[in-house]
Amino acid sequence: MYTFFASERKGYLFFIRGDELKHLRVRRILRGERVGVIFDTKLYEVEIVSVSKREAVCRLINEIEVETPKLRITVFQCIPKELKTMELMIKLATELGVEEFIPVISKRSFNESRVIEKKMQRWSKLSKEASKLANRPYPMKIGNPTYLTSLEPAYDENILLDNFNKGVGLKEINLKGIDTLSLVVGPEGGFTEKEAGTLTQKGFTSVRLKPYILRSETALTVAVGTFINFADS
Ligand code: SAH
Repeated sequence: MYTFFASERKGYLFFIRGDELKHLRVRRILRGERVGVIFDTKLYEVEIVSVSKREAVCRLINEIEVETPKLRITVFQCIPKELKTMELMIKLATELGVEEFIPVISKRSFNESRVIEKKMQRWSKLSKEASKLANRPYPMKIGNPTYLTSLEPAYDENILLDNFNKGVGLKEINLKGIDTLSLVVGPEGGFTEKEAGTLTQKGFTSVRLKPYILRSETALTVAVGTFINFADS
């Protein structure tokens, strides 16, 4: 089922306009077909009543209950020098159910703050688009960029994905009674030994994923996917 953002709701009717209407028309969706709409952080199944150049009008069939992850994960992602990879990470994190994603500058990350500021809008837009594809009725929040040196273990559990073959296995992390978790992921070049050392001294738990060295986007996916699914079971 295709899903679109609605611009307005009036009683049982939803209105799709602007770019969303363009997407709908490109997909040649016609009167009588059923689609999903997201409106005001809720997801609905609707039937198309009419499509014109101005708007598509849809009639409510029913609200679709969407489960929100019990474990609220904040990802601190060191910005890869290959900025396209950051876009992939944002899409992956959104569909995996990350609550907030914060771009981080570290020793080996991309570090041009002017470019990063400019990218923020695009990254938020990608999160919104990815949430639509995932039938996630609210986008992942993109937090303000920060520096690795200023991170503190401020959540119920705080994890550092280590690239030094140190650290405990994922299954050693006890998620019982934990509502919030932060996850710090390095850039392509990894953390420096000093960076990893400082974070563990501050109280981050160093975790090693098995069996090999992974790309940042793989490490992010494995860790978030595992935590979200285990926390909910
Ligand atoms: N070039 C670096 C590897 C960086 S991997 C090196 O050769 O050491 C990029 C990031 O992904 C790491 O900083 C870490 O956060 C994460 N990562 C990759 N593999 C991992 C693993 N096996 N366990 C935990 N984190 C890993």
